[in-house]
Amino acid sequence: MVERVRELGVRDARVLDALRAVPRQVFVDPALASRAYEDTALPIGHGQTISQPYIVARTAELALAECPDPKSSKVLEIGTGCGYAAAVLAQLFGTVISIERVRALHELARGNLRPLRIAQLRLAFGDGSLGVPSEAPFDVITAAAAGEEIPPAWIAQLKPGGRIVAPVGSGEQQMTIVSKDAQGRVSRRTSEPVRFVPLRGGTV
Ligand code: SAH
Repeated sequence: MVERVRELGVRDARVLDALRAVPRQVFVDPALASRAYEDTALPIGHGQTISQPYIVARTAELALAECPDPKSSKVLEIGTGCGYAAAVLAQLFGTVISIERVRALHELARGNLRPLRIAQLRLAFGDGSLGVPSEAPFDVITAAAAGEEIPPAWIAQLKPGGRIVAPVGSGEQQMTIVSKDAQGRVSRRTSEPVRFVPLRGGTV
């Protein structure tokens, strides 16, 4: 799986090591365990999926780029799902907060992650389009669900010097990188077309 991700263009050794460190079979339904190391998204229930490993790796690579000190950086992940990407991000960054709006998935992730005992990872339940004000500000915000725009709360909760890596768009989605410079000026660019589940408001 890691070799496949590398072939697709992720070359950051820190990211490839993080993928090697997290057993993906822990995060998939036992009935799908034989497919855990395929580079594909798989269903996790509630109409959601565990992301394709390549896309988890690519998001992490974009999040790490120009991050001066990842191990002292605080990350917010929107869309915990089964918790796989959160576990990968926690190998790379000092603190990871991951929020999920579907309570059953939040609980699923909690159960999946418990045996891995990742001290620097905390899970939150709620509507991540509002960010997590009690934990702000963040050095990095990543999203595993695509909104039509970057929610203003994410920009407000981003530290100067920080970046957001998130899919944006309703039909065609683009991976979008929002940077806030030391003076607080915000700029954005898009990197590549992607396909994520939609970012939804509220909780269920
Ligand atoms: N990070 C996961 C990907 C899960 S799919 C992985 O490692 O595979 C994206 C998740 O985003 C879904 O579980 C969905 O319920 C969640 N989501 C969508 N909108 C959200 C919102 N506003 N706040 C929090 N989570 C949201």
